[in-house]
Amino acid sequence: MARHLDPAARDALVLRMRFYRDLGLTEFYRRPVDAALLEQWEIAGAEPEQQTAAPMQQEVSTDVPGYPVRQPEAQQVAMHPIHSAEDTMSARKAQFSSPLIAPEVAPAERAAALEIIREEIGDCTRCALHKGRNKLVFGDGSPTARLMFVGEGPGADEDAQGIPFVGKAGQLLNNMIAAMGLKREDVYIANVVKCRPPGNRTPEPEEGATCSPFLFRQIDVVRPQVLVALGATAATYLLGSRQPLAGLRGRVHAFRGTQLIVTYHPAYLLRDPRQKKEAWADLQIAMKELGLKTPSKG
Ligand code: URA
Repeated sequence: MARHLDPAARDALVLRMRFYRDLGLTEFYRRPVDAALLEQWEIAGAEPEQQTAAPMQQEVSTDVPGYPVRQPEAQQVAMHPIHSAEDTMSARKAQFSSPLIAPEVAPAERAAALEIIREEIGDCTRCALHKGRNKLVFGDGSPTARLMFVGEGPGADEDAQGIPFVGKAGQLLNNMIAAMGLKREDVYIANVVKCRPPGNRTPEPEEGATCSPFLFRQIDVVRPQVLVALGATAATYLLGSRQPLAGLRGRVHAFRGTQLIVTYHPAYLLRDPRQKKEAWADLQIAMKELGLKTPSKG
């Protein structure tokens, strides 16, 4: 039986579709709706409990309502029907899988393709983070990198310079890259959100969900062989997994045609250097995937 959206849900869906169109996503597939699932939603319609994590102090995934849940098998932008939405919040909560993987861009055209994404982002005001921004931090490095790192969001130094990972955590990331026998210019670096969250707090689900489609597009253009998620926020938005970081580390995840490896965020390693050994073990998995040998010392 056909179901009709209430006006608020419909308006929210229209906004969401406009947003996708702005991103250049125009093909959508409607999934058949499982009536039993709809009933479950009616029963479980309450807001999931919001967990507040101290900024980057907890290396576990937070249970974030509304973040994009990826369903690699489907590779579709799922159009979940919004059944009992009472306001736009309910519509926002409708989970969506990450966009279709974009067609491969020829290596010679990747820099220009990234530039197009940057231009589309423009002087962005899509979420509240723009209010405190000095510089939008798009990404840095080689558009044809075989290795890409994804962090959480810019900090004060990055916000001032418009370049990711240039502060203390960035210095440690540079050292990690060097330990792999690579130069920073060899890799590509981006974040889940492109504007600095106030006080370096964890991005709100709305902010992450608004900004992360651009990250997916950057990943699709660069098409790295290996992607390293730095910390719980990056892992959560990339994998759509609410598992603690410990459950995601130490193995390779297939993600958008890349091999995704999850490790600790450098800022966390600065606070707890004992975990560097574990992070190095993760990077060695990345190196193995890339066919890199540990550089000899001296
Ligand atoms: N932390 C991040 O997650 N990203 C940056 O760019 C800098 C610090």
